[in-house]
Amino acid sequence: MKSLFLTLWNLFLETVFPAICCGCRREGGLLCDDCLNAVQLRGSALFEVVDSECLDGVLACSEYQEGQMMAKLIYALKYDFVVDLAPPLGQFLIDGCTNAEMVADVLCPVPLHAKRFRWRGFNQAELLANVVGQEVGLPVENLLKRIHFKKAQMELRKEERKANVEKAFRMRENVDVVGKTVVLVDDVATTLSTLEACASALKEAGAQRVYGIVLARVY
Ligand SMILES: [Zn+2]
Repeated sequence: MKSLFLTLWNLFLETVFPAICCGCRREGGLLCDDCLNAVQLRGSALFEVVDSECLDGVLACSEYQEGQMMAKLIYALKYDFVVDLAPPLGQFLIDGCTNAEMVADVLCPVPLHAKRFRWRGFNQAELLANVVGQEVGLPVENLLKRIHFKKAQMELRKEERKANVEKAFRMRENVDVVGKTVVLVDDVATTLSTLEACASALKEAGAQRVYGIVLARVY
């Protein structure tokens, strides 16, 4: 129902206001070729081994840089609610997964807290995961729920972020991850603490391996 509403709403907007590019504000479409090509990707992205007990690796399509095209597009998706950016952004994740020859059983979006979900109306990580799952032929399952709501990670100092997300995630009822390789999907990894907290819950529930894929990571 919500997605029908968004479709109709977008249709209305496109009729009344011609679409402008989220990158450069020129008329013509949501994302022009110039802006698409301006996204700076990290060479041939591979899963990087990270210093973590639970997280087996992370694939970041780009380095997060304020003001750069990837950051602008992620902002437009999350805060201007341009949900139609999910397919082109998801394509970056698909390319990354393909290059890295990703092997997985299931994709799991990093969940939003219910309160933030209600505010935004959608989970951007879930939109991205759906785009990837459809293309690479993997199921997308909401395995986790976020039980704490404190502050958005971007608003916190580095040392506060870990404490903010520790034990913030819990497995949903009636999901089974025993022996599975789970790939977490998110838009931005500010630190790895969110992905680690998710991985911790999944490993505790029996997942064999847990990886993360993100559009952008702060290094
Ligand atoms: Zn543009």
